[in-house]
Parts: sequence; structure tokens; C-alpha cells
Amino acid sequence: MCREKILTDNLDRVEKIISLASQKAVPLAGPVTLMAVTKYAKDQDVLTLLAAGRLHHVGESRVQQAYARWTSPVFAKYPVVKHFIGHLQKNKAAKAAALFDFIDSVDSLTLAETLSHCAVKLGKTLKVLVQVKLTDKDTQSGLPLGQARVLAKQIAALPGLAVCGYMAIAPQVQDAQQLRGSFHMLRQAFEEDFPAGKERWLSLGMSADFAVAVEEGSTLPRIGSDIFARNLEDL
Ligand SMILES: *Cc1c(COP(=O)(O)O)cnc(C)c1O
Repeated sequence: MCREKILTDNLDRVEKIISLASQKAVPLAGPVTLMAVTKYAKDQDVLTLLAAGRLHHVGESRVQQAYARWTSPVFAKYPVVKHFIGHLQKNKAAKAAALFDFIDSVDSLTLAETLSHCAVKLGKTLKVLVQVKLTDKDTQSGLPLGQARVLAKQIAALPGLAVCGYMAIAPQVQDAQQLRGSFHMLRQAFEEDFPAGKERWLSLGMSADFAVAVEEGSTLPRIGSDIFARNLEDL
């Protein structure tokens, strides 16, 4: 099978799973939008799906690499919404603020203030999500839910930023029930802090767990390997 067919089949499969899962999510927090995580993808594979009109939201986790890619003329002509989903160092905040539409991994007031300053200078409104930590492990980034909710309120007062939801990475060790429980808890906080009516996003779910995440109310699952690596390792 050719590479292009495998990529579009992968995307079809992911979209089908999302659609089935969203039918089980009652009530839906909003329409579910797929974020294609392109951080490990080959340029050519990303271009294949862009040219096919199949990518609308993309996620990257390295500022320099993403900047080089998405400002190059072949990529820049596609009007996709760009999300930064990695750990953002303060010294890269200006570049990130210039390139991305969303910073989905904000986990400190200092970072938010830096981004606010950059956005004001650029004359743009940068959308941000607060990253929530769903485990006690120190290695996970993000803030415990209570602190994340406080930070969301603080960011709402900063110029140049529009805080519009939460992002979280599920811990790998959790069993399905535990996973569902932590997604559910975050969904409830999200509903209280970001009532429907304004733009809002709840970004849960990666290749390993996006069906459960969408069933529990994620509106922005982030999928990388299931699109760009599945059935492609030996090509
Ligand atoms: C890499 C990454 C993803 C995508 O992970 P896959 O398992 O490849 O789908 C999603 N979210 C974040 C924050 C990531 O860093």
C-alpha cells in the first residue's frame, strides 16, 4: 500500500473512533476537533495530509523546529490552527507567541505573564489552556487541579491572552476506571470554570486513550502516532 493511502486510512480510522466515542459522550461539551500532533511526523507526511485538506488543528512540542517548519513557504500557505503542547521555556516564549495560535501547556503565572507581554507587543490575542496534572508523580508537567483553577482565573485578567480551557496528559500507569475517573473530575471543573457560550476547549486524550477521553468530554484530543506512525514503521 502506498504511504499516502496508509496516512489517510489512519486518519479515517481515528476520525471514526472519535465520532463513535462522541456519540457516547452525553452531554457533549462541544463539537470534537481532532488535533494532529505533527511533532514526530516527517515533513512529507504532514504535507500529504495538508494537501488533501485533512489537517485543521496541529500540535507541536518543540519551538525552533516548529517555527522552521511552519514558516517555510510550502507549509505557511496552509491556514491551520497551530497549538504548542510541549514544555515552554521562557526564553522561547516570544517565538512561540509569534508562531502559535494556542499555547496549551501553560502551568505557571510567570510563563503566562511573559506570554501576555509578548502577545500585547505582537498585537495579537493568544489563546491559552492551563495544563493540569492528573497524577502525583513529580515527573509529569502541569499543575494539580486546584492550583490550575486558580491560575486560570489569574490568566483571565492578563491582557493579550484568552484562557479557554484545560489540557492534561493521562498518566500511563492508570487502569481504565481510574483514567475515566480523573478525566471525569477534570470535565466537571471545566464545566464550572468555562461555561458554554464562549470559546472553550477541553484537551484530553492521545493515541493510547482518546476514545475514553472523548467519551468523558474531551473536545480536542491530540493524536500523533496513530496517524503518523501506525502501519508505517517499515516504510
Ligand atoms: C506527543 C504528544 C501527544 C501525541 O501522542 P501520541 O501518543 O503520539 O498520540 C499528545 N499530547 C502531548 C502533550 C504530546 O506531547
